[in-house]
Amino acid sequence: MQMNPAQLAGKARKAMQFAHAPYSNFRVGAALLSKEGKVYTGCNVENSSYGLTICAERNAIFKAYSAGVHDFKAIAVVSDDPGFTPPCGACRQVLIDLAGDIDFIMVNSKNQLKIMTLKRLLPYAFTTKNLTRTKRSRK
Ligand SMILES: [Zn+2]
Repeated sequence: MQMNPAQLAGKARKAMQFAHAPYSNFRVGAALLSKEGKVYTGCNVENSSYGLTICAERNAIFKAYSAGVHDFKAIAVVSDDPGFTPPCGACRQVLIDLAGDIDFIMVNSKNQLKIMTLKRLLPYAFTTKNLTRTKRSRK
């Protein structure tokens, strides 16, 4: 099944309704598209111990990995912000490490889209390649 960025954004907006954001009141929804065309959604889930909060993007990719899916095309992220919501640093690291250089589709409250690659959002990233090189050099 093919899905365009606007359709993926619609799935992210649906996921946003489940956001649990009583502290920030900043609701976020994400929809991650696998190479086979399946969509994994996530929302932010906050915690009274703030550091244990998880973002929508990481919720979506961990859900996909939990289902054995490791290959992706794009992720759409929606919030109530009239501007675009870029991923936080933790999500940039997790996404480029677990999904690679896929498209990151930011969707504002007016349903306008801004698409950037993860490599553009996180240049010179630390990934599994760094670990592989270190293992090789120890032999
Ligand atoms: Zn994040």
